[in-house]
Amino acid sequence: MKSQEIRSRFLNFFKSKNHEIVPSAPMVMKDDPTLMFTNAGMNQFKEYFLGNATAKYTRIADTQKCLRVSGKHNDLEEVGKDTYHHTMFEMLGNWSIGDYFKEDAIAWAWEFLTVELKIAPENLYVTVFEGDKEDQIQKDEEAFNLWKKHIAEERILLGNKKDNFWEMGDQGPCGPASEIHVDIRSEEEKAKIPGKDLVNQDHPQVVEIWNLVFIQYNRMANGSLKELPAKHIDTGMGFERLAMVMQGKQSNYDTDVFMPIIQEIETITGATYQKTEKTDIAIRVIADHVRAVSFAIADGQLPSNNGAGYVIRRILRRAIRYGFTFLNTKEAFIYKLVAVISNQMGDTFPEIKKQQHLCENVIKEEENSFLKTLDQGLNLLESIINSAQSKEISGKKAFELYDTYGFPIDLTALILEEKGLSLNINEFESELSKQKERSRSAAQSTAGDWVILRQDDEEEFIGYDYLETQVKLTRYRQVESKKDGKLFQLVFNLTPFYPEGGGQVGDKGYLEEPNGNLTYIIDTKKENNLIIHISKHLPQDLHATFTATVNNQHRLNAAANHSATHLLHQALKNVLGDHVEQKGSLVHPAYLRFDFSHFSKVSHEQLEEIEQFVNARIYEELDLIEGRNVPFAQAVEQGATALFGEKYGDTVRTIQFGNSFELCGGTHVSNTSQIWHFKIVSESAVAAGVRRIEAITLDAAKDFLNEQSNQFNALKQLVKNSKEPLKAVENLQNENAQLKKEIEQLKKEKAAAAKTNLKAALQQVNGINFLATTVDLDAAAMKDLSFQLAGEVEQLFLVLGSKQNGKALLSIYIDKKLAEEKALNAGKIIRDLGKFIQGGGGGQAFFATAGGKNPSGLAEALSAAKTYID
Ligand code: ATP
Ligand code: MG
Repeated sequence: MKSQEIRSRFLNFFKSKNHEIVPSAPMVMKDDPTLMFTNAGMNQFKEYFLGNATAKYTRIADTQKCLRVSGKHNDLEEVGKDTYHHTMFEMLGNWSIGDYFKEDAIAWAWEFLTVELKIAPENLYVTVFEGDKEDQIQKDEEAFNLWKKHIAEERILLGNKKDNFWEMGDQGPCGPASEIHVDIRSEEEKAKIPGKDLVNQDHPQVVEIWNLVFIQYNRMANGSLKELPAKHIDTGMGFERLAMVMQGKQSNYDTDVFMPIIQEIETITGATYQKTEKTDIAIRVIADHVRAVSFAIADGQLPSNNGAGYVIRRILRRAIRYGFTFLNTKEAFIYKLVAVISNQMGDTFPEIKKQQHLCENVIKEEENSFLKTLDQGLNLLESIINSAQSKEISGKKAFELYDTYGFPIDLTALILEEKGLSLNINEFESELSKQKERSRSAAQSTAGDWVILRQDDEEEFIGYDYLETQVKLTRYRQVESKKDGKLFQLVFNLTPFYPEGGGQVGDKGYLEEPNGNLTYIIDTKKENNLIIHISKHLPQDLHATFTATVNNQHRLNAAANHSATHLLHQALKNVLGDHVEQKGSLVHPAYLRFDFSHFSKVSHEQLEEIEQFVNARIYEELDLIEGRNVPFAQAVEQGATALFGEKYGDTVRTIQFGNSFELCGGTHVSNTSQIWHFKIVSESAVAAGVRRIEAITLDAAKDFLNEQSNQFNALKQLVKNSKEPLKAVENLQNENAQLKKEIEQLKKEKAAAAKTNLKAALQQVNGINFLATTVDLDAAAMKDLSFQLAGEVEQLFLVLGSKQNGKALLSIYIDKKLAEEKALNAGKIIRDLGKFIQGGGGGQAFFATAGGKNPSGLAEALSAAKTYID
């Protein structure tokens, strides 16, 4: 069965059980501070389990793009080495939000696998939670008895907390789980060891395919468990593992999900899959990682130096390194695999097809720059090896190479091994853990449990219409981090405060109690569905009705920049073309920043055109046309621009100014004239194929123009011509150029005069044209003059002395022939004469110079010169 069909069978099966089929959420997380990437199908439904939001459907199913490379779920080091863990994979899942529980979840999972897909029950095992003393919970008897209805009792195994108790994080919803494992070994192998002995033993052919989680507890901050009022089902099945089972393969990589990529790697590199273990691992690593990196880029996460971007960069570098070391690839090639992925998965995930070129460009640039790093690293390692005192290379040095040059430690170890050297790996590890400790303690933050003051009220955002309103506190908690110290997070029943999101920074403002006490809100953020107001103190009376007021100026400037961002987006598509995709934006009150895909520098003329386009829309005074709760499909059909990597609900908000029409949750001006003026301040590159424009509007634009005007006024005063300052500056420039010319001329004349004077002063001594005299020239001019004179006078013996900046200079020029015939040596003579000026020097036989600190010795030196020809 083709993998495409497996996917649609799953979705159709749960559709027939009245599940709503929803799209995959983006793989890159936007507003969850606890997660960088989606690592399980349930992430996007977390708020329903937490009770922070009400689900629209109580039965849901989907396929979800997951990435397990950081945090609680990190499979990176396994990937490639084994055959069934990936960085990025699809998780098929079905959910019940307070609807069905264990009985249906178990029955349907069994029905799907054994009836719909016809997987033989003799190859399946299931596990049930055995209970835990510390948490004081019993064995999951309920699940055990339900499974007995479907599968022989000896195939139901008990599992411990690690495998069979699922938790979202340190806090939050959790519960016992039942896993389904499949044994795909040959009959011969099965006869040797029973499958049940291999379940959960990391055997590559006895693997877990599906995890059914029965969410019934909430883990509190103090570690205790509390029974949840509503119980939920959360399941996840590895799509690639299921394909392996259905296609009768022994490895995920042998399925139609990976084979086309592997074949392309073979074609490009000339390597053969399934020949040696080392090349196999390298090929699997590359085939896996290119998927993860492409999907991350398509979701808007470019490789970078920090945060999620750094994780993506590291994945790609791991692939490059495996290619470099084991497939001998010294040139960029991974980017060429994107086309295969786009071809294969583009129908299910259109974002990859639409952005294929961007992915290729970004990956190619990353490859080239890392290959350069590897090259540099090899050179550095070479010199470390050459200067090594012993056969063991210091772990500190290797760490430096790893930390500052990004040179991989396993490559270092490999190269050392090839040269018969070893690495002090303990020292390396200790440096590494010191560094990790440093960054961990810097980032650490702890959150207390929410203190709930009012249960019933669900938070409502009214900030599109109001900047001030009466609110009540529904919950709060204290958070503490090294970076920010102790802060409070407040949640209200109602709020006019816009939380950071869609690139726009959060509102600031204050709360006022009836007694006049003020509590300042220093920032507003979104955590999943909660709008969190951050303050340094708690209000005095937690139960009071507060007047919540948003800082108007802060908001208005942010709104102007947000609306201008939409107009800029429209302008870019108009001026540069339809290939422009938004790749990121920051809307701050002081400025806006917009990243977009475009493959060359935006020219000065184009920037001007873009600026004019936006300003024209501002002067047209376009009214905001806002649509709220518009069905997503309808909005898109009407032409509203949706962004890749953004998660949209069933209904969306639309923002329209003239022909600019976008899906957007941000705050905007009610008429474009409020933007006042749009001014681009910079254009630059962010990555291959991604450009960045920074611009200002409203107050910042006013400040900018004021500042320009002040400078211009100052300039007018300086040039004392208030009517035509430009003309005055031009005149000054012309005058300056003229003066420079004249100075050059004068210098030339002075040098010529000096030469004429010296020539006239030459004495004839024994057929030699001799002169020893002082001049007022620097060393370069002395040399110049000597050489010029030598060109005009034969048999020259010229000694010059000069006092410059309190120091003495001497130079001697002796005609080359003369020096040879009379065995004279300017270099030797200058060393003798140098003594008179308390200095030294040297040079060649025909020309030499000296410097000294005693100018009063010059006269003696010059008269001593004559003795050499007498
Ligand atoms: P394993 O023990 O094999 O790592 P897990 O316990 O981490 O699996 P879950 O968190 O329960 O897995 O995820 C649900 C399902 O997703 C698993 O049953 C498996 O089929 C699949 N899965 C988990 N991790 C990966 C991965 N790294 N690559 C591919 N599929 C995975
Ligand atoms: Mg795992």
